[in-house]
Amino acid sequence: MGKRIKRILRSVEKYSLSKKMFELRNDFYWPQGMNKPPIRERDFKKLPKNIKLIAPEEIGEAALFVLRKEYSMSMEDLVHQVAYLIGFDKVTEEISNYIKQCIKLYEKHYKITNKNGKLSLTKEIILPCKFCGQKLRFPNKRLIIICPKCKKSFTYIP
Ligand SMILES: [Zn+2]
Repeated sequence: MGKRIKRILRSVEKYSLSKKMFELRNDFYWPQGMNKPPIRERDFKKLPKNIKLIAPEEIGEAALFVLRKEYSMSMEDLVHQVAYLIGFDKVTEEISNYIKQCIKLYEKHYKITNKNGKLSLTKEIILPCKFCGQKLRFPNKRLIIICPKCKKSFTYIP
């Protein structure tokens, strides 16, 4: 699994666009290994039947897919919707735990926001890098952005 995002002291957080977690695809950065953001349910149904063989990014993207439709829901509801979406009709403890880990990883990467137990998509914006112009997609919150292309960093303040 990818490296943990380091939190910086005080209120500024570092958002890891680099560190091998993301790679450049069509001007934007997507989780490594993804060809495109999955948008159709049948894409998910082709995943392996052993949950542990499914990459955390696939499950994370399935969670984003559900949250795009439903706006917000509890962890338990999201786990069940994600399990169903990727082809598991029966949610065992093992499946539930694995999906929860993947969702929490996406919380750490600021893709999913957990507010009082209600999960929703983190609002993202797209802005060009101040130094090289590369389009960057990141959560709309106070962050130190490290450009994966030119490696320079700047502070983003909404
Ligand atoms: Zn740059």
